[in-house]
Amino acid sequence: MRKHLVWLRADLRTIDNSALVAACADEHADVAAVYFITPGQWQQHHVAGCRINFELRTVQQLSKQLAALHIPLLIAETTDFSSQASVILNLCQQHNIDSVYFNKQYEVNELARDEAVEQLLAKHHIDSFCFDDQCLVAPGKVLTGDGRFYSVFTPFKKNWLQHIYQQDIVIQSAPLKRAQLWLTPSLIPDTVAGFDSHVSQEVALNEWPAGENAALDKLSLFCDERIRRYKADRDFPNQHGTSRLSPYLAVGAISPRQCYQAAINEQQLYGASDSIDQWVSELAWREFYKHIMVGFPRVCKHQPFRSETKSLIWSSDKIAFQRWCDGQTGFPIIDAAMRQLKTIGWMHNRLRMVVAMFLTKDLFIDWRWGERYFMEHLIDGDLAANNGGWQWSASTGNDSAPYFRIFNPLLQSQKFDPTGDFIRRYVPELAHLDNKSIHEPHGKQRLLWLDYPLPMVDHKQACAYTVSQFHTLKEAPIGRADNS
Ligand SMILES: Cc1cc2nc3c(=O)[nH]c(=O)nc-3n(C[C@H](O)[C@H](O)[C@H](O)COP(=O)(O)OP(=O)(O)OC[C@H]3O[C@@H](n4cnc5c(N)ncnc54)[C@H](O)[C@@H]3O)c2cc1C
Repeated sequence: MRKHLVWLRADLRTIDNSALVAACADEHADVAAVYFITPGQWQQHHVAGCRINFELRTVQQLSKQLAALHIPLLIAETTDFSSQASVILNLCQQHNIDSVYFNKQYEVNELARDEAVEQLLAKHHIDSFCFDDQCLVAPGKVLTGDGRFYSVFTPFKKNWLQHIYQQDIVIQSAPLKRAQLWLTPSLIPDTVAGFDSHVSQEVALNEWPAGENAALDKLSLFCDERIRRYKADRDFPNQHGTSRLSPYLAVGAISPRQCYQAAINEQQLYGASDSIDQWVSELAWREFYKHIMVGFPRVCKHQPFRSETKSLIWSSDKIAFQRWCDGQTGFPIIDAAMRQLKTIGWMHNRLRMVVAMFLTKDLFIDWRWGERYFMEHLIDGDLAANNGGWQWSASTGNDSAPYFRIFNPLLQSQKFDPTGDFIRRYVPELAHLDNKSIHEPHGKQRLLWLDYPLPMVDHKQACAYTVSQFHTLKEAPIGRADNS
């Protein structure tokens, strides 16, 4: 009887999992799955403790579901990626496995690791099969007329949609139950040393229940109750206007195809809707940044997309950075957002842009500091989206915000948290202020009664300085796309 191994990574689900489905295609084969714990690699990649906690809880759910299908899930541990090839080979030899199946990951280190695994397995006459499963349209398929990766979103999205319309989006069912559970599933740890979560377990379980069933519930709730108001509500952090599916997409508890299908089904039910189109557009942004990472791998190596911005001399003011991290900038909306991140491991998209722009434009601090801090604290930390978001805000990225168009934190606050209720939730020392002054408490009020700092910068002066720094660049920051 043939034996197959499915190597699970960022695809922690049974439904619509290309590698799992392919491994189970031969109904008589024995199938096992493996998941790696890699603390050293996670540390190198600055993965947040709350994300590891979420991932382990997801693996625990998945293990139960797989066991019910008679697919044992094994846990292997290596410090980093470098020894994974030999561990996979050992597993195959120990259990007489003929072939290994996995879904591609597109980050530079992950691609190098997979190549090493494929080569070693081939040397030992073990087959390996990999699948493009992370995107609705695989990186490398959406190209410009002259065969290059897009660096601008709007034409990318147009072409991406054409691919989607041309292909049949099919959700693959979970595999059928196998004849026997041929190995004993491993125990899944609750924690991994060095990855304590800064989010309380109570908040984590309430906000982020783990597993593919929880993800599907969230998706269907969003489609039933909120997707048709998405366009109107999505920018207001105090409303539950977005799907909050990002952690589930990051660990692969749900596939982008499932998200797209659910949204489109809604459209058929309720007629064409700008709101649904807008949500599909966000799925396109997710894919755009993954494609960028494959086409321009330098973004995985701490390099700006726009090479000319390398010569910017960012501030390395550690005290100012710490005040930003701690939500003590004296700008209520910035502080509320940074405290949301600390409390629930997630931040609303509008606020991610506002705080990232504040760090890079008002404080002129290196976007890589913010990128790393986000990775260390986000439950949905994802290299491509995080890097894309940071480079967009810092004006070092492809199709990014123009360097001279800088968000004013006060206006953003008044516009997107008009009643101040979001600020009230996360900055309790300001909770009793009225709807107007909560955005910008009076200087005396702060010092005498509120125990709240004065604004740490003058926004106007800070912007003038930042713009002057961009002006020193030899080229205007509208970079050509070099494929390194
Ligand atoms: C500085 C910065 C850092 C970011 N870091 C991350 C990150 O580490 N991980 C992450 O998943 N997203 C990141 N984003 C993108 C975005 O903020 C989140 O995806 C979104 O807030 C998640 O909330 P949601 O699931 O409710 O999104 P929804 O509005 O419901 O959107 C649905 C899905 O589309 C994708 N998406 C939405 N907006 C974007 C976007 N701008 N870029 C890429 N994908 C998007 C996400 O997968 C999201 O779950 C970042 C944005 C910025 C500006």
